[in-house]
Amino acid sequence: MYRIAVAGTGYVGLVAGVCFAEVGHKVVCVDIDEDKVNIMKSGVSPIYEANLEELMQKNYADRRIDYTTDYMTAYKDADVIFVGVGTPEQPDGSANLSYIATVARQIAETIEKDCLVVVKSTVPVGTNDKVEQFINDFLVNDVKVEVASNPEFLAQGSAVHDTLYAERIIIGTESKWAEELLTNIYKPFNLPIVSVNRRSAEMVKYASNDFLALKISYMNDIANLCELVGADVQDVAKGMSYDERIGSKFLNAGIGFGGSCFPKDTKALEYLARQNGYELRTVKSAIDVNTDQKTLLYKKASNRLITFNGLKVAVLGLTFKPGTDDLREAASLENVPLLLDQGADIYAFDPVGADNFAKLYPEGSNRKGSITYVDSVEAALEDANVCFVFTEWGEIKAMTPESYKSLMRTPLVYDGRNLYKVDEMKEAGVEYHSIGRMPVYRESEKESRNNELQASRY
Ligand code: NAD
Repeated sequence: MYRIAVAGTGYVGLVAGVCFAEVGHKVVCVDIDEDKVNIMKSGVSPIYEANLEELMQKNYADRRIDYTTDYMTAYKDADVIFVGVGTPEQPDGSANLSYIATVARQIAETIEKDCLVVVKSTVPVGTNDKVEQFINDFLVNDVKVEVASNPEFLAQGSAVHDTLYAERIIIGTESKWAEELLTNIYKPFNLPIVSVNRRSAEMVKYASNDFLALKISYMNDIANLCELVGADVQDVAKGMSYDERIGSKFLNAGIGFGGSCFPKDTKALEYLARQNGYELRTVKSAIDVNTDQKTLLYKKASNRLITFNGLKVAVLGLTFKPGTDDLREAASLENVPLLLDQGADIYAFDPVGADNFAKLYPEGSNRKGSITYVDSVEAALEDANVCFVFTEWGEIKAMTPESYKSLMRTPLVYDGRNLYKVDEMKEAGVEYHSIGRMPVYRESEKESRNNELQASRY
């Protein structure tokens, strides 16, 4: 059992802290947000993650975990301090390291015994060398401090499971002492550990995330071409997935990647490459494809309709993916303002993300349109002129083509997640536009579409 302090109780820090407690360590989680700390102390999770609240309550009752804003008491006699504060994107694409620097300073000024500082936050290669130097420069007491890199690979929506049953633990250390200590902390998880040097560990994280982002953008690029040449991207992906070299995951075409990691981590690696005089062309392309993909359906719908002004627009899904209430870089955030600026009356449904979205776009008149939050898919679709699907929540997936036809005033659907079968939408009489599959047009629209196609060919 080790005494562990965790700095930052977001998706990474809180989940890591709870899982360390679950395997028997004594954990104290530190956050600067007093409200958050009080919420956690009352047994409520500040974020939506499956099983998190149960494990928080269990380990708090067993006195294996506690939450505090008092970093001095938490850090002073910890064996290990994990750092899970944010490293958000800056306007130039680089990572903002100010939160890491603040924690480093707080650690330097408070620790009273030898300590390993383990950075879980995603940081550009070489950052942890500087963090170690920084802490040693500001150390108040005569103690030994080392910094290790231990990047996190959890996915939001399955964060607890991904931590307890991780495919691998990457530890990046510069001494035997640090390597052994970190290995011992992870021993109770019984998971494969890959031990590398600190800079390699930092790079593993970016290289992994950016590879996945690339895979998504590649499939979106292929999807857009599929549509032009009459292929179906879902069939193409199925055919590709049998090749073990390619694998079956991350082949779904859609409205682009969002969330707190892929967008910023692609930009940060591209920035790092530029700083080192290298152009990372693959990642750069992945970013460009993704930027265009996010508003592709909006542009298609704008071409198809004369205006959104006064139209009832159903928006299904606000979060960047299902299973989380996180909105960071969600497709909804790109498209909703465009629709509002056009005077759309939006009826939005999301099972858990609506409250967070309403903080940014309060219910009622907004820009030139309005937004209303409803608590069912049906209520959003009722009498709607057009519908956009942005997130593949189960409730949205479960809708039948017939329900779109019967509920909407005009059954016109732009699906950014390819949730429905094209044939079934056609049979139900829904005009259906998705990603990388042939659109379904209503009879009245066919002729103008044919003309459009002819025009684009010659
Ligand atoms: P987050 O924004 O959800 O949480 C960060 C927390 O740190 C906040 O609660 C904030 O109040 C707290 N904080 C800020 N300064 C502090 C300080 N001085 N002391 C204590 N707490 C402080 O962040 P997140 O999504 O958990 O991401 C954290 C890091 O992990 C980022 O670098 C991110 O790239 C990386 N990461 C995130 C995920 C993910 O899915 N969210 C996955 C892997 C890696």
